[in-house]
Amino acid sequence: MKLSDSRFRHTGCDDRVDVAIVGAGFAGLYMLHRLRGLGFTARVYERADGVGGTWHWNRYPGARCDIESMQYSFQFDTALEQEWEWTERYAAQPEILRYANHVADRFDLRRDIRFRAPVLAATWEETTARWVLRIGSGERVRARYCVMATGCLSIPNTPRIEGLESFAGPRYHTGEWPHDPVDFSGRRVGVVGTGSSAIQAIPIIAEQAKRLYVFQRTPNYAVPAHNRPLGRAEQAEVKKHYPEMRARAKKTRNGVDHSPNPASAVETAEEERIAEFESRWSTGGLGFLGAFSDLLVDHEANAMAAEFVRSKIRRKVEDPEVARLLTPRSTFGCKRLCVDIDYFETFNRPNVTLVDVSRSPIERIVPGGLVVDGDVYAFDTLVLATGFDAMTGALARIDIRGRGGIALKDKWRDGPRMYLGLASAGFPNLFAITGPGSPSVLSNMLPSIEQHVDWIADLLDYARKHRRPIVEATAEAEDDWVAHVNDVANRTVFPSCNSWYLGANVPGKPRVFMPYPRMPAYVRKCDRVAARGYEGFELNEAPVVPSPGSGLVRGLPHAIEGSPAA
Ligand code: FAD
Ligand code: NAP
Repeated sequence: MKLSDSRFRHTGCDDRVDVAIVGAGFAGLYMLHRLRGLGFTARVYERADGVGGTWHWNRYPGARCDIESMQYSFQFDTALEQEWEWTERYAAQPEILRYANHVADRFDLRRDIRFRAPVLAATWEETTARWVLRIGSGERVRARYCVMATGCLSIPNTPRIEGLESFAGPRYHTGEWPHDPVDFSGRRVGVVGTGSSAIQAIPIIAEQAKRLYVFQRTPNYAVPAHNRPLGRAEQAEVKKHYPEMRARAKKTRNGVDHSPNPASAVETAEEERIAEFESRWSTGGLGFLGAFSDLLVDHEANAMAAEFVRSKIRRKVEDPEVARLLTPRSTFGCKRLCVDIDYFETFNRPNVTLVDVSRSPIERIVPGGLVVDGDVYAFDTLVLATGFDAMTGALARIDIRGRGGIALKDKWRDGPRMYLGLASAGFPNLFAITGPGSPSVLSNMLPSIEQHVDWIADLLDYARKHRRPIVEATAEAEDDWVAHVNDVANRTVFPSCNSWYLGANVPGKPRVFMPYPRMPAYVRKCDRVAARGYEGFELNEAPVVPSPGSGLVRGLPHAIEGSPAA
């Protein structure tokens, strides 16, 4: 440690960590915990002033998970799993944030997290075979490995609407909500967007606001949440059988235990089919997608589910013209299916107006409101529920330079390229958690995060034991995987609409389907790769570099090279 300290003073660059982790959401927290357990020195850099990631930033009214809390939670520690009590079927944002803080405290993680520390650049230094990170504060850090736990939905997408900056009143983005609650009482509010965030926020804003305008470009499908308090007895029963439930979840397409029905909608008689849809509808939640096995792969089956949900929307909304506008015509589940609490019913309120901007886009924003097709809608508070630069946004904002100074942004100009969504050729020792090409946003994210973290931790341990700490995905393995992801995606309904899964929500972003739609097949592939000595990766020795005062050493004096296990 002394040698490292002197080197820090000598070079102005902190060399004291083996692994630099970027982001303190669930992924960064668990990565830190796992690496510590293996004896690595790891440190997290987080641009926010607290842990929680998504749940730190998205504090808009109504924010809550759409996967049941008992499943949207960590399973790596049985005591944690057993001791934490959820209060609702779908926990609200403050509770999930408390959970993230509890995890940080319970595993004593904060002492290795630097807050208000945005990572601006990460450069692969060939001579030392290390990543050099530049932090916003001016600090530089040199680490053997860098893990990007920067999130799939962590960079808000602010649309380029003329006059946006001229708006005179308060303006909020759902993905960057203030810490203090916003009171809409007596206010005239304009909400742009009708995705998951808007669908959660609108009913609550409508209850408070004097007047609410909702600007909708594309209507969305939503199924009811049927949220409710979680009783202790019910929770205890789930906890008694947690391992079985988690094991069942691992076998499903998206890592959620929702009793998927293996039958085909197309081959099921109409009466039976409707009964299955009704049953899922009354249960509530994303389990609706498990009603039949072909809903997301067969357009005829998909149309049946779509029509069922449309008929429900038409029944909920009193004004037929408003109902027509709110009824989606696109492929069902092609954009992320929303889970709502009284969303459609909100449009029956006298203080709520739906404004269709599908044919005539928002013309401009003015100090006192917004103009559509020459009509001015006057309001004093603007809410942008306009989503995220998803999956690649956070990585693209860091100047990441791999071998030969190649920028990741340039390599990904035509779309992200990763092997298993974990690593990219030409960027050795750099890993992403839930990166493009992994199930990520098409799955229950907590188990996906755990699977990625465990896999990366095992790989680093393996590389250390074999004294070959330089790990790089091969271009061939990456090409094959990218082709496979496209092939699988093209056999689903997902590429058939303009979703953020395809990057279609951000002007100029290449149109590439980013997540991998099959969780169990993905996990099997990762396990196979590991069992075959990390097939598709090259593992090499560290270069010999001069170390001040101690002659030549292979790398620097960290747990990685100096491990007793090595
Ligand atoms: P994040 O939580 O996004 O954390 C990434 C962290 O990295 C952030 O704190 C960010 O500040 C930090 N960071 C990024 N770039 C930098 C940088 N350059 N320097 C320093 N720090 C940086 N998933 C589900 O499975 N179920 C749900 O119900 C669900 N609900 C959601 C609701 C909302 C409103 C949103 C937006 C997403 C939801 N998701 C859900 C997806 C959610 O993002 C994941 O479940 C999960 O929280 C992601 O954790 P993470 O740690 O990977 O990323
Ligand atoms: P989103 O799904 O991308 O929705 C953004 C909305 O803004 C869309 O309705 C979009 O319309 C609209 N929009 C964007 N630019 C616009 C413009 N210039 N003019 C008019 N409308 C515009 O974003 P999100 O709602 O924040 O959700 C993102 C993801 O986060 C979700 O899909 C989900 O994975 C996650 N999330 C989950 C929950 C949950 O229930 N737990 C809650 C929130 C978020 P178009 O559709 O026409 O582009």
